[in-house]
Amino acid sequence: MIIARSAQELRNALDSKTGSVGFVPTMGALHIGHRTLIDAARRENDTVVVSIFVNPTQFLPGEDLSKYPRREEADFKICELSGVDVLFYPDVSTMYGRDEVRITAPDVRGYILEGASRPGHFDGVLTVVMKLFNLVRPTRAYFGKKDAQQLSLITQMVGNFFMDLTIVPMDTVRENDGLALSSRNVYLNPSERTEALKLSASLKRATKLVMQGTLESDAIKAQMLEILEPLEVEYVAIVNRAFESIGRVEIGNTIVLVAARVGSTRLIDNVWM
Ligand code: AMP
Repeated sequence: MIIARSAQELRNALDSKTGSVGFVPTMGALHIGHRTLIDAARRENDTVVVSIFVNPTQFLPGEDLSKYPRREEADFKICELSGVDVLFYPDVSTMYGRDEVRITAPDVRGYILEGASRPGHFDGVLTVVMKLFNLVRPTRAYFGKKDAQQLSLITQMVGNFFMDLTIVPMDTVRENDGLALSSRNVYLNPSERTEALKLSASLKRATKLVMQGTLESDAIKAQMLEILEPLEVEYVAIVNRAFESIGRVEIGNTIVLVAARVGSTRLIDNVWM
């Protein structure tokens, strides 16, 4: 595995490769969710590139940028054992200069739900992903459905800017008890870890209600909120795949999402139905 820290090192590493390039952008602290994306990239491409970059522009002032988990050694091992060809591991000065051109998230879809709770977050996400795509020039890029709104906005950006790559959505990987894997789970103490199960439990209830024929969004959200108590819920939402709020679940075109704080840790989860 080649570790590239600069744009030039990345180019040198990739120029000798032929065929398709599968790309998995991450912020590190890798877990089985990341691993599933890397495995898919490995199966479907000649060359696999993973990036690890804790992108400062997607954190708002007061968020967990400085304490975001960093696990360089373990991450390098995981990448190597997963058959990654090139690990791109830039520092902030490689990725950003001063007073730069930026990508702006769309006015509505970029500023609802995660964007309402974290205004400007998606501007940072789209900007760094654009930079990474231009550096890596992937054939396919792999993203988790766990970050559903991010996946939707990146897919939209690729369309809006006529970018020549395929976005591959990947299902959310969970612990046996339902908790969606997240690098932020390491912040949870044992009792918070138990409380955090309320997110996936609320989504399980939503799924059960829909299977039993309850399709009205308000009825589903009310039951989810009951399960989520006493967590500090930021939103419970039922949207279509275009991220428009819908009054009734449309099977095959619906995402049910939840964001809540467990102690001081902010967690998100969703189910696609
Ligand atoms: P992050 O390092 O949190 O920025 O995540 C990097 C990529 O891994 C994103 O595309 C995430 O959506 C994806 N990801 C994170 N958690 C999971 C999970 N539990 N299952 C599947 N993909 C995930």
